[in-house]
Amino acid sequence: MGRMPLHYDLHSHSIASDGTLRPVELVTAAHAAGVDVLALTDHDTLDGLVEAGDAARELGLQLVPGVEVSVSWQSQTIHILGLNVDPACKTLQAGLEGLREFRHWRAREIGRRLARAGIGGCYEGACAFARGNIVGRTHFAQHLVAAGHARSVREVFKRFLVNNKPGFVTGQWASLETALDWIQSAGGMAVIAHPARYRMTASKLRRLVAEFRAGGGAGLEVVSGSHSKDNVSAMAALCRNGELLASCGSDYHGPENPWIKLGQLPTLPAGCRPVWESDRWLVQ
Ligand code: AMP
Ligand code: MN
Ligand code: MN
Ligand code: MN
Repeated sequence: MGRMPLHYDLHSHSIASDGTLRPVELVTAAHAAGVDVLALTDHDTLDGLVEAGDAARELGLQLVPGVEVSVSWQSQTIHILGLNVDPACKTLQAGLEGLREFRHWRAREIGRRLARAGIGGCYEGACAFARGNIVGRTHFAQHLVAAGHARSVREVFKRFLVNNKPGFVTGQWASLETALDWIQSAGGMAVIAHPARYRMTASKLRRLVAEFRAGGGAGLEVVSGSHSKDNVSAMAALCRNGELLASCGSDYHGPENPWIKLGQLPTLPAGCRPVWESDRWLVQ
């Protein structure tokens, strides 16, 4: 009798960043959805990991301590996941602290810009939606929807919060090299999150992969809640050619986004070697 394969979801959010479930609620929902191994990967913070770890221990689910680091690369924001990071690592903690400071400055700046566009009170409004120690564009979107300026979070992003829109502020995040150093200092494996979402040309994406590999990066998120079937095939090919390990994660933010569910990810395409089969997995 072969063992049942474990169900992995290596990308998720809680109220520690811009998710809507508390860490304990997220872990409970993942367990109920049949996830065996869950990574909590909040944006630029490790704050939810203790609560998530405690809940996971109770339920017999394996919690992978993670983080999603905001990175500026070639005038673009990209996200690098750190999986199996040691939350006690001072280098990682200090690095993330700097990113959170930028977030707070950026939040005020977004507020000023929206005020100039005729919508006041957004900084305070966004802060009221932030339930942890980071404030992000999602919180602005939630406030703007609640205040009646748009019908959905998606619409807010499109009309106000992306490049060339009134509330857009250019990211000044970590460099790729620095983010990789933080993650590796903390004993973690780095994975490029939702690579198809960046809408890079194939050659730019290959350059990113090459730089990422040179800095010690390990994996590519081939299966993502935001990838289409075609995206998955393209990223699987890139993963094989770039000699990267493959990861899979829903990028779950809570039940408000009904199109992204926990425990419903397709399996990794054949020929991709999963991150969890690497010798470095779980080796701190
Ligand atoms: P931030 O890191 O604060 O700039 O915000 C990035 C987050 O905003 C992502 O992790 C998503 O949760 C959310 N987001 C980005 N683009 C969109 C979009 N078009 N619609 C809805 N949410 C989005
Ligand atoms: Mn998010
Ligand atoms: Mn992301
Ligand atoms: Mn994410």
